[in-house]
Amino acid sequence: SKPLLLVLGDQLSHDLAILRDAPANAVVALCEVKDEGRYVPHHPQKIAMMLSAMRHFAEELRQRGVSVHYSRLDDDDNAHSLIAEAERLAERYGCDSIQAVRPGEWRLWQAMQARRDAALPWQLHEDTRFFTTPDDFAAWAEGRKSLRMEYFYREQRRRSGLLMEGSEPAGGKWNFDHDNRQPLAADAAPPAPPRHRRDAITRDVLALVAEHFDDHFGDLTGFNWAVTRRQALADLRHFLANALPDFGRFQDAISDAEPWLFHSRLAPALNIGLLSPREVCEAAERAYHEGRAPLNAVEGFIRQILGWREYVRGLYWTQMPTYKTRNHLAARRQLPDFYWSGDTELRCLRRAIEMTRDNAYAHHIQRLMVTGNVALLCDVAPEALCDWYLAVYADACEWVELPNTLGMVLHADGGLMGSKPYCASGKYIDRMSDHCRQCRYDPKQITGTHACPLNSLYWHFLERHAERLADNPRMALIYGSLRRMTDAKRDAIRQQAEAFLARLDGEESYGGGTQH
Ligand code: FAD
Repeated sequence: SKPLLLVLGDQLSHDLAILRDAPANAVVALCEVKDEGRYVPHHPQKIAMMLSAMRHFAEELRQRGVSVHYSRLDDDDNAHSLIAEAERLAERYGCDSIQAVRPGEWRLWQAMQARRDAALPWQLHEDTRFFTTPDDFAAWAEGRKSLRMEYFYREQRRRSGLLMEGSEPAGGKWNFDHDNRQPLAADAAPPAPPRHRRDAITRDVLALVAEHFDDHFGDLTGFNWAVTRRQALADLRHFLANALPDFGRFQDAISDAEPWLFHSRLAPALNIGLLSPREVCEAAERAYHEGRAPLNAVEGFIRQILGWREYVRGLYWTQMPTYKTRNHLAARRQLPDFYWSGDTELRCLRRAIEMTRDNAYAHHIQRLMVTGNVALLCDVAPEALCDWYLAVYADACEWVELPNTLGMVLHADGGLMGSKPYCASGKYIDRMSDHCRQCRYDPKQITGTHACPLNSLYWHFLERHAERLADNPRMALIYGSLRRMTDAKRDAIRQQAEAFLARLDGEESYGGGTQH
């Protein structure tokens, strides 16, 4: 027998299940196809990173003596859908089966499964590059009333042995988040990321992307993503030495000037397979044991990867396909134009969008508490917001983007992922960032021409969704404050928020409305 091994653009790992024990006669296929590149307008930096990383990986395989077929976007005979292209290649090379590993999207996994018993059968394998499989997650979730990340995470700590001292967590606590909520200190100096050399492959790809995708949102100029394992390892080493020690305390900070702060920038390399989550966590753990980084930083960082990343993946695979259609708060507004233009006077929002445009990156708190929070407060439809997040970030893959956007940000899964929405007013942004000092709005005012729109939007959101949220014990305090406001104050807030929302909608009506 002779298999065609289909390696997808986010599976660029030499220890991928189908590559590890590949028979000598196998043909490995890597395919650039239009179907995958076009259904949302991906950021040019994201497209360039994927294409350059795929082309480098194909080169590495060839150097290891593997037979590789690489389909390029501009090949005349390219079938432009992954399934059709793989089957075309299998026939061309006389292969009698196609082997593939679980992809990052439910849609594609379904399409592959439907071909299992085809004349040219698809043989499908589990992705072994994560700490857990979807079956592990399903077994953990079985019979539980709530699926809180914290409990999942503790089980993964025990299972992996990471940051464990016998059966106890290192330092006597599972979670050091309490120490991890500081705004950026005035004297903090976030390190500049290493600059990666652009070789001939990357230069070719950058030219191709500039030519074909210049109508997409996003600037290609500052492109600096790792496209090889070597470059990704350089980013990892740089993070461990220069940023990890401060990762914890400034994890939630937001800066008007600094896009990366003390974050790792490793999500794209992890997601496309240049780094494994295990090696990244083990390297961080070593930094703790060798006294190079404090426990609150290392625990916080490992929790993001061993906890959150595995958890959202488990949720995705066990809740799809219905997950994608959920809309608990019945949000229907289309995405405001400023998400694409950055044209807004809210300084925090403008900067998050500009950084996204320039870098195909914004850190977690910008995604959650700035662009996410605004969408939540404005009742943006989950589908519209998810398409935006999937398009604009270099690390965006549906399995991780969807639960974060639909569940964590929009609370559209009815609280499966988070016990309450992360809604916040201007006060939060003022506490965690230096934006408000440079903004034309005042975070301390709720109504009036200088009031930060987030304030009235925040109260209006709570009032509008009281039926679904007021009974939540974690929101009791805030609904108490709302109830204690005078009717006159509440009226003024409502008017202020509605005027803002009406301006968003312009002349158009947007099938739905904010009154449920
Ligand atoms: P760091 O802050 O350095 O964190 C370390 C690593 O932890 C990340 O590289 C990532 O692998 C992991 N991680 C951290 N938070 C999460 C999380 N909530 N879920 C899963 N993994 C996490 N992450 C993606 O990888 N792809 C996405 O498409 C994506 N979409 C998001 C959409 C929204 C609305 C939100 C709120 C978050 C999203 N995240 C996504 C999670 C997180 O924001 C990014 O992983 C992170 O900002 C990437 O930057 P970094 O590598 O510098 O992360």
